[in-house]
Amino acid sequence: MLRVLSACAPKMSSYFSNYQAKCTFRTVVYIASSRTLSTHEDPSVLMPHYKSLVDRGLYREREYARFSSARIFGASVQDGGKNVEIQWNNGTKSRYHSLWLRQSCHCPSCRHSSNLPSVNFNDVDVAAVIVRAETEGDKVLKVTWSDDPYHTGVFPPPFLKRYSYSDRDREERNEDMKMVFNTNPKPSIPEVAYSDVMKTELGLYNWLKILNEVGICLVKDVPTRALEVKKVAERIAPVHATVYGETFDVTDKPNPLNVAYSEQRLQLHMDQTPYESPPGIQFLHCFRFDKEVKGGNSFFVDIFHVAETLRTTHPEEFRSLVRIPATFDNTFYTRDVRFHMVYQRPHIALNHDGKIVGVTWHPSMIGPLMTKEEDVEEYYRAYKCMATMVNTFPYQYNCRLEEGDLITFNNRRILHGRHHYDAKSGDRHLQGCYVQIDEFKSQVQVCSNTVGNGKLATRVGNLDWQ
Ligand SMILES: [Zn+2]
Repeated sequence: MLRVLSACAPKMSSYFSNYQAKCTFRTVVYIASSRTLSTHEDPSVLMPHYKSLVDRGLYREREYARFSSARIFGASVQDGGKNVEIQWNNGTKSRYHSLWLRQSCHCPSCRHSSNLPSVNFNDVDVAAVIVRAETEGDKVLKVTWSDDPYHTGVFPPPFLKRYSYSDRDREERNEDMKMVFNTNPKPSIPEVAYSDVMKTELGLYNWLKILNEVGICLVKDVPTRALEVKKVAERIAPVHATVYGETFDVTDKPNPLNVAYSEQRLQLHMDQTPYESPPGIQFLHCFRFDKEVKGGNSFFVDIFHVAETLRTTHPEEFRSLVRIPATFDNTFYTRDVRFHMVYQRPHIALNHDGKIVGVTWHPSMIGPLMTKEEDVEEYYRAYKCMATMVNTFPYQYNCRLEEGDLITFNNRRILHGRHHYDAKSGDRHLQGCYVQIDEFKSQVQVCSNTVGNGKLATRVGNLDWQ
């Protein structure tokens, strides 16, 4: 029966298009054949568009691993040709707008084999509607628009499913990407072994997954050599140099460039907040920490967990910190390296769904407030509220680094602090560096798709609205 349907497909299509013309775009449903090809059949004849997509490297099931099992069961034109609704093999439906499909077309004229779209919207008629939508087997959606009967839009199902914007699909992706918080009152920091991280893909994936999902991970037994931290970081991406250099040494120095390079207590903070894109993953390698040194323990707090708690317990203050821009300032003219960075933005950033997608927090790089006069008091009341919550937050990670420990954490999510230590009681020497957050997130997704189960990377706090 399926064979007959498939063989009749061209005739049925023309029948439907005639029917459709008469009915001025009434809903038309095409049933896809979901059979598989036998070895005697040439896919280029029965599935030319599928073959073309595969040949051009655009049938990217591995890159959309989570969605690779998506198959199209049927498609219908709706709303006078403005939308196509797809029925999926799992019984759900997604709708795609004519213009969305126009921009996303995978035909040879609209998308290069490099996967870069080449549609120029200057040439697109935004009033054009879809006159036909049908499937090629269950592997390709084909679409024709009213302004060009010779242009067949083609789309692989994993792509359509990955980027579907139906409420249900967006909610499923949100579930996949949402941050999960540690609600253990004395949370322990997850650990991985240096040899696993450096030598195996699975070891690398394990570490990236923890860093992505928990936000912090301790790499144990790292050789206590200078610049070893850079080698570990480069398992993920090239090191991100800042005004403090490619790597930096955290030890007690005279006349320090930064309070971190002293024995003083460091309040909970994220690094380099005056950057448009502050450092992503931070690496701190402890290669000297004398047992006799008093103090110097490290502590960490998940600022996204704090912000979500603030939203629940102090909604007004939360709204103030979303609305009123703070100032972040790092300006020095009195040292060898001179810099002058001032950056203004609210502490908390939300996306179009009200999800928190970025938090910026650094009490020692906060600059003078430069907002409207009527917002000044409101800001400070809200700032005080969040500062109190940060400092009294019950879910704080604590540890005393040991020689050979390399603590890694997401600087956009996990605040770090350090207790005062007595530099006269012994040596404490950490070496640090960063990698950019987007390069980290990219590696998480690559590893998830190639070594893991294809789960979408958890949000990393990089202001990405997904
Ligand atoms: Zn096209």
